[in-house]
Amino acid sequence: MCGIVGYVGEKQAADILIEGLKKLEYRGYDSSGIAVFTKNGVVTEKSKGRLSMLESKLEKNGVPEGNVGIGHTRWATHGEPSDVNSHPHSYGRVTVVHNGIIENYLTLKNALIESGDVFVSETDTEVISHLIDRYYSGNPTEAIFAATARLEGSYALGVLFDDIPDRIFAVRKDSPLIVGLGKDENFIASDIPAILAHTRNYYIIEADEVAVLSKDEIRVYDVFGNEITDRKKLYTADWDIESAEKGGFPHFMLKEIFEQPSTLERAVFPHFVNGPEGILKEQIPSTDNIKRLVIVACGSAMNTGMLGKCVIEKLARVPVDVCIASEFRYSDPILNEGDVVIIISQSGETADSLAALRLAKERGIPVWAIVNVVGSSIAREADNTIYIWAGPEIAVATTKAYTSQVAVLYVLALRLALDRGRIDADRCRYYMDCMKKLPELAKQVLGDGYIKEYQRLASYNRNKHDYFIIGRGRDYALGCEGQMKIKEVSYMHCETYAAGELKHGTISLITEGVPCLAIGTDSTLFDKLAGNIKEIKARGGHILLLAKKGLAEGRDFYDDLIELPELDELFLPIIGAIPIQTYAYYTAVYRGCDVDKPRNLAKSVTVE
Ligand code: GLU
Repeated sequence: MCGIVGYVGEKQAADILIEGLKKLEYRGYDSSGIAVFTKNGVVTEKSKGRLSMLESKLEKNGVPEGNVGIGHTRWATHGEPSDVNSHPHSYGRVTVVHNGIIENYLTLKNALIESGDVFVSETDTEVISHLIDRYYSGNPTEAIFAATARLEGSYALGVLFDDIPDRIFAVRKDSPLIVGLGKDENFIASDIPAILAHTRNYYIIEADEVAVLSKDEIRVYDVFGNEITDRKKLYTADWDIESAEKGGFPHFMLKEIFEQPSTLERAVFPHFVNGPEGILKEQIPSTDNIKRLVIVACGSAMNTGMLGKCVIEKLARVPVDVCIASEFRYSDPILNEGDVVIIISQSGETADSLAALRLAKERGIPVWAIVNVVGSSIAREADNTIYIWAGPEIAVATTKAYTSQVAVLYVLALRLALDRGRIDADRCRYYMDCMKKLPELAKQVLGDGYIKEYQRLASYNRNKHDYFIIGRGRDYALGCEGQMKIKEVSYMHCETYAAGELKHGTISLITEGVPCLAIGTDSTLFDKLAGNIKEIKARGGHILLLAKKGLAEGRDFYDDLIELPELDELFLPIIGAIPIQTYAYYTAVYRGCDVDKPRNLAKSVTVE
């Protein structure tokens, strides 16, 4: 969370910083700010609220002119979203932008106050500018290392020194940061989309490294002051600029929903080119001796794990536990020989998931990762990484990354089932054929007829307060993601229940007209689900049934029906996710919500 950018070159820094911040706004939008070296020194403009408020301020006060600067879009952790708490923060000769949390800031702040420093904000960040300034006596990298050595917590920092007007400095620990290499210009950024309009080439800065950027060069130093630029790997982003733009759609979320036919293809097809024998062989050479999988993730990625568990256990009979990363890391988890930990994260920077990964590795447990962002911390630190190749996901509410993560878990289930002799090559080929239909079927459920229906159904929710979702087995797992979608974008209160569980308390909340989604893609459980739907109907609930084709025939217990296209039902939840996402999207639109930037949320949660 929080996006940082920095520019040094020949163009007007303010323009490039604002444009970069627009691409990072998904990371936080409590406030934003820029600091630019002008001919009169560093000029800072910042404003609480959306980036557009900063833009209005700049219009009013004038855009600071200069070719070097840093910028920030904030997701507040310490101190309310206000002008004064907005970044950049300056003290003495130093200006910083920060992504992360300084856990020992209070101790540091009190010590600094005792020795005469005056603080203006409530942020944890402000101690950083004070510390760097205190340690600065002509050698900027030394001052940065000395200051960061005192910090506990996570940080990615962009730093300006008043007396070095042609350079920006960058350092990080546990928060993402890349350094973009351009021609006569260089950049720092929290994420690739911010620099994509200017360059595709970038370095990843590691902990205990400082990058020094001028317009002509980037130099990287280790903590001993040795230059290590030659040792840095230069990455090239293969995302195109359009993939980080809305491309004519009103919102990123809708655009990303519509990308799913192609993202599903990219997630799945490459694993099938060498037949059953080739599945994931490159990424995971061996699955021998695996006794248990422990999937660890946060938010929607954890929901993908729940669905993955159903499918892996069914096909491969390998026990799977699914854990919330923020709980796992502090639970002293029981991990034994034969366990493999699987970390799932779109950004590959999720702080709790990264900590869980490190914990598992410390315990000597192999870690696999399912990640979207190439070169991200989780991707690099895992023993084996499977990329989902979904391209940049900008909307805060995940859609395409969810279905791609799920699809990869299905692919993994096939591999494990084959390796353990639970399915033979012919059966595997049949399943592969099913999965090869996913892109086409995703297209079908995004066809005009379906979309009109989602819109019509969503309009029912315009003035509703509560929403319930029920399902059994895989459909329950899918419902957990449905709940997340409805809540995060439409702000309706929503709860998902394993269908048999509702009557153990929560059915008391079902009253006349309360909207309920029942998911029924599993024919073996449909009659049981039907009973639960009737229980809701009897209490006046309004039922939207999302079902496998034909299952609802002759039934009279639903108010509305979405039928999914023909496919082996094992794979239907992947396709079933798309109507739910789109329906949640239109529900949010009808309710006048800011779909791409939901209240209080941010993507890529790089703080605990
Ligand atoms: N802790 C800093 C603040 O609250 C940065 C927040 C973040 O990176 O999310 O301003």
